[in-house]
Amino acid sequence: MSGSHHAQQFAPPAALTAGPRTLIGLSRADLEAEIAALGEPAFRARQLWHWLYHRGATDFEAMTSLSKAFRARLATHFRVARPAIASAQISTDGTRKWLLRFPDGQEVETVFIPQEERGTLCISSQVGCTLTCRFCHTGTQRLVRNLSPAEIIGQIMLARDEVGEWPASSEDRKITNIVLMGMGEPLYNFENVAEAMKIAMDPEGLAFSRRKITLSTSGVVPAMARCGAELGVNLAVSLHAVHDDVRDVIVPLNKKYPIAQLLDACRAYPGTHNARRITFEYVMLRGVNDSAEDARTLVGLLKDIPAKVNLIPFNAWPGAPYECSRPADIAAFSDILFAAGVSAPVRTPRGRDILAACGQLKSASQRLKKSEREPAEVPA
Ligand code: SF4
Repeated sequence: MSGSHHAQQFAPPAALTAGPRTLIGLSRADLEAEIAALGEPAFRARQLWHWLYHRGATDFEAMTSLSKAFRARLATHFRVARPAIASAQISTDGTRKWLLRFPDGQEVETVFIPQEERGTLCISSQVGCTLTCRFCHTGTQRLVRNLSPAEIIGQIMLARDEVGEWPASSEDRKITNIVLMGMGEPLYNFENVAEAMKIAMDPEGLAFSRRKITLSTSGVVPAMARCGAELGVNLAVSLHAVHDDVRDVIVPLNKKYPIAQLLDACRAYPGTHNARRITFEYVMLRGVNDSAEDARTLVGLLKDIPAKVNLIPFNAWPGAPYECSRPADIAAFSDILFAAGVSAPVRTPRGRDILAACGQLKSASQRLKKSEREPAEVPA
């Protein structure tokens, strides 16, 4: 199945609801075109952009620099709503998780991880996932559909509402970093992800620096260079194994893009250097990928790539086929990498008690059954 056919088949519904369309998620040019269609000058679109993405307005009435008449016209044609919160949970460690519901009833999860020096927001890009990584809870949820730019950017805007971070400021932010590490493979929904990230990086709007945005991929090799060239955001790669026969099982996409191809694409990722390294995620699975030999092999694989490794103690979920490595084995693995000059901190699990930790996300959304359809075909 070609990439474009996949994007079409799993596209978000054109109109999620009858009635006014959302202005959220439109590019600047598209917003200007919508406003011009109402016979209004371009600067009105700039004013709107400011209200939407700098002030975080959720209704036109609040946009007091616009005339009352214009606000009323806007409200008849458009809306600026946020995704609905189906449930909200707070972990004992302060991590917050929202289950968000879209007008067509589909749901995704978004997670906020407050830390001392930073606050990371983990956002989703698909309902379910195209891929079936065996250590990941989302991987057990067949792909239902891709998220639209509005639904991707809507997660950031909703989280800002919830932590009280409007108007957007560059000083003492609560949400400092965005990671596309939630539900879904972002490079299998690249068009919509790119639209949303361009809005997130707009300096007159949400104003996130591309250095504060990390896109995590399981290794969709053909799309990696484009991501680097078009967005220039940080790259994280779900590596999780150093031998193809093991990775074929843990990350089945490896059968299509084996480790050697993946690492070549990493070497070619634009803008990487020692001060801007690629993050390799490595989930620690007991007796599967956690031996000293695995660690030494990993050092060899990464020797000519500006790299850092995140060692992730496996976060169990109901029915998971793996166990977390022993703490001593994780520490030994980390020591071998550090001793070889590769930064390999062990990530502290956050939000495990509310199933908000890495690899634990899943929603109840299901694609309409087509006689027990196979998991989504991986696009060509
Ligand atoms: S790790 Fe990422 S790509 Fe793999 S199944 Fe989970 S969400 Fe999908």
